[in-house]
Parts: sequence; structure tokens; C-alpha cells
Amino acid sequence: MADLTYLFVQRDLESSVYAAVAKYLQRREDKSWKKVAKDSTRFNLMLGDRNKLPYSKLGQIRGITQVVNYYRGSDIICRKASLVRTLKDYCEKKKLRMFEWMTTSFVIYPPCDEEVKVIGDETLVRRRRSRSDERDQLKKFAEGKPRVTWIAKSSSGAKGDGIRISSDVESLVQMVDSQKKAYVIQQYIDSPLLLSGGRKFDIRCWVLLDATYTIYLYREGVLRTASEEYAPDRLDHLTAHLTNHSLQQELSENFGKYEIGNEMFYDEFDSFLQDNYGVGLDTAILPQIRSIIKSCLGIVQSSLNTTGLDYWSFQLLGFDFMVDSDLKVWLLEVNGAPACAQKLLSGLVQSLVETAIDPVFVPYGRVQHGPNLFDQI
Ligand code: ADP
Repeated sequence: MADLTYLFVQRDLESSVYAAVAKYLQRREDKSWKKVAKDSTRFNLMLGDRNKLPYSKLGQIRGITQVVNYYRGSDIICRKASLVRTLKDYCEKKKLRMFEWMTTSFVIYPPCDEEVKVIGDETLVRRRRSRSDERDQLKKFAEGKPRVTWIAKSSSGAKGDGIRISSDVESLVQMVDSQKKAYVIQQYIDSPLLLSGGRKFDIRCWVLLDATYTIYLYREGVLRTASEEYAPDRLDHLTAHLTNHSLQQELSENFGKYEIGNEMFYDEFDSFLQDNYGVGLDTAILPQIRSIIKSCLGIVQSSLNTTGLDYWSFQLLGFDFMVDSDLKVWLLEVNGAPACAQKLLSGLVQSLVETAIDPVFVPYGRVQHGPNLFDQI
């Protein structure tokens, strides 16, 4: 391979994946990749932070191929509120029912500004709301359904921050109003598939979109498990209901009791499914996961496409799912800058480079340095 250069402008190492990609490129035997100074505009690959990418540095020099590690605009599915909005808008436009893999969801915004009127001795304060606020629809939907449980999640939140579960819609809406953030309030999946010890889990899958918008799914995924038994009657028992890693680690003394680091990998999950349900991961779960990923990314393809721009993009995405007791898969969220389980990191990095970076520069005669675990779906 001829000499290629990369610009590393990642400031917060929130996700260590691209730091690991940079190290991998430096180390690789063919020694084709060289790092350039931060102010350089002559580079082939830009590795930066989501939302802080200096796009203006791209396309300044004619005649060189450039690729960047995010699709501009991918927030339309990578924030919880935008994901709900995007799916709803699509279904409304196409006159379709909402996708059956998304629980009934409403986007709630805190009042955005206040209009103060003084009439005589009286001061009237009218709080204005975003036109996209769906609290009225939520209240109407929830009317007469006291047994439905809801989960409120801040749109930009992560790691379980600010999540509340309750059957009292009014109190959830009040909670949102007391915050300064957009929230999604969605129907709680109250009959989850439970692992040994009656514990809940979610599944993280890594998905790669290459420069031609081809979709790949990483062959290995991880189940993030709860440390405590699921407790449908104790909605405030966070470690029984929320499977976020950091929350489990921080709040449960049983963290690591069932699985090392509360992580279960596919082979063990497959055995669990075979033993308890007589089905395999490959037949019962993964086809649903692939189909959801393809639908979701298909919907936003025209918004994210880089055709016609003078640079290419690729992006690693983290799709989070839950499975219910009927083995139905539900999409929870799409993470735009996913971290990777330590055990899988080196394989993921090598496969990412060989799937999304090498082919842009060496379309023919690719050098493979190990098994590539990204499968086109
Ligand atoms: P965060 O970005 O904070 O991780 P998530 O959407 O992943 O937010 O939700 C955190 C956790 O809450 C998930 O890992 C899952 O255990 C639980 N959870 C989220 N949405 C639902 C839902 N609709 N029904 C049941 N559990 C949910």
C-alpha cells in the first residue's frame, strides 16, 4: 500500500474504539499509515469525536481521497427523541403503522419559554411548548390504561441517567418539566425474557456502515445483564430494571456474581436459548435483529448519504435491543459512538479497518490480517 495519512482529532475518549483504531493503524505490519499534525488538511482519514468533527478540514485539497469516521446527521437516529420522531415521520408519510419492534413512544419537551402578561394586579405566566411535544397524545393514549407501565428516558442521556419507570403518566410528565431536557416516554417492556436467577438483560450489537452505505453486523454481540432478580412490583428497584453497565457496577453488590462484568456473550446465550426454549440464537433472535437494523438504516439512507460530497464517511453504531418472554426483539436505542466490550475490541478494530477503511483506498487486492467478523446484512 502507498503511504496514507490520518488525522486524529479525538478529544474525549468516551469511546476508546477510534483510539484503538489509530493504534492499530500505526502498528500494522504494512506500515502504510502515518499520523499527521492536528492542523493539517492533507490527510486521507479523519478520526474525530461525534458532534465535534471539523468537517471544514475535509475536501480542501483536490485529488486526494478522504474518509471520516461519522456520517454527518446520524443524530436523527442516534438520539432517543430523534429516533422516535424519525420513525414516526416515516410511518406517517408512508401511511404505515408504527414498526412493531418499537414500543409505543412519545417525545416530551419541557416548556421552552414563558410569556408573562401583567393584567391589573395579576401576573399571568403562559409556558410555551415545542410544537413537537406529544404530552397530549401520551395522556390520551394512557387514559383508561392504568396498568400500563412507562419508562421516561432523557433523549441525550446515557448510562441510565435520569431514567424513571412508573404507571403514573402525570408524574413522569412533571418530572420532565422539572428538567431542561427532551425526554422519550415509552411503554415499558414489562415481560422481558429472563436469564438464570430471573434477571433481565439487553443486547448490544455493533453495526458498521461503510462508505458505500453497505450495512455490516458484527458476528459477536454482548448481553448486559442485571445483577438482581427482575421485580415487576418494585419499579424503583433500579438494578432489577435497568441493565446499564455503569449503573449495575455502581449500585449492585452482586455485580459480577453471575457473569464476569455482567457480560454474557453469544455462545452462552445460544446455549441458554437451546436449553430453555429449544431454539437457537441464529434462528430465533438474529434474524429479527438484522431486519430491524436494515429497516432503521434504510429509512435514513437518503438523509445520510454522502454521494456528491468530496469525502466519504463510515460509522460504527451500537444497536441496543431487548427480548421479551415471547422471544420478540425490541429496539431500545441506537448509539452513535459505541464503546466496545474489552474482550471484543481488538477483533472489532481489525475488522472495522478491513471493512470500512482499507477498501476505500485499496479496492482491489485487500490485505487481510485476520478473520473479518463483520458480515454484510
Ligand atoms: P441509556 O442510554 O441510559 O442506556 P437505554 O434506552 O439503553 O438508555 O435504557 C437503559 C436501560 O433501561 C436499558 O438497558 C434497559 O434495561 C432499560 N429499558 C430501556 N427502555 C426500556 C423499555 N422500553 N422497556 C423495558 N426496559 C427498558
